[in-house]
Amino acid sequence: MGKLYDLLKEDYRIKEGLKTCINCGTCTAICPAAEFYKYDPRKIVDTIQRGDDGEIEKLLKSDTIWYCGECLSCLTRCPRKNGPGLVIMALRDLSARLGYFVESEKGRQLYPLTKIMTGNILKYGYCIHPDTFKWEDHVESGPVWKWHTEHLEESYARQGANFHGTGPGALRDIPQESLDELKKIFDITGATERMECVERYSRAKAEEMGMDMEEYFRHTFEHCSNEHFNND
Ligand code: SF4
Ligand code: SF4
Repeated sequence: MGKLYDLLKEDYRIKEGLKTCINCGTCTAICPAAEFYKYDPRKIVDTIQRGDDGEIEKLLKSDTIWYCGECLSCLTRCPRKNGPGLVIMALRDLSARLGYFVESEKGRQLYPLTKIMTGNILKYGYCIHPDTFKWEDHVESGPVWKWHTEHLEESYARQGANFHGTGPGALRDIPQESLDELKKIFDITGATERMECVERYSRAKAEEMGMDMEEYFRHTFEHCSNEHFNND
């Protein structure tokens, strides 16, 4: 048992999500991510349970821990009441803290994800906001969605939303004082610190890859190799 294992054990999600794994494989059988990715939550839980720091470091630097969809179906089926999804949340957190996430393609996607989602939450109060959606970045969404992005006011009015309005209703503007509260929540819970961590390690990786931050953002946002998928 080593340092990484000790760091993981401090995380309440490991305390709650890993009691004694009997390697039955039920979590893998029920896992939707295992259908699509080369991914086996049973193996991850087993690796952590054995407490070998070398193996844990490999996991923290791998694509593997970024395949989970955090649906927690595994938690509902495990005969020992383990939650592999909770274990993976703790692994992701440690990977971000230590900067190991930049060593894998899926891990590097944490940068655009953090920029987009948390940036939107702090600016708009929504993790996804129509004002930030560029159809050119999602051409697979098709011509109807293209029309929608070009006619936001008209489209949302037809749907009964309160787009950019005040008071109640979907897509209303969130008052500044509520956004300030959100920022305080980010600060107090450590989310701000984690975002800064992701930014710092991503900058160093971008430099190593010979890219400026705009190029790095596009690269990590758009690039996804076929190696991740389960083609069996
Ligand atoms: S279902 Fe539970 S006991 Fe079975 S392999 Fe997964 S974590 Fe271990
Ligand atoms: S939480 Fe993750 S590991 Fe568990 S079933 Fe969902 S995708 Fe699979």
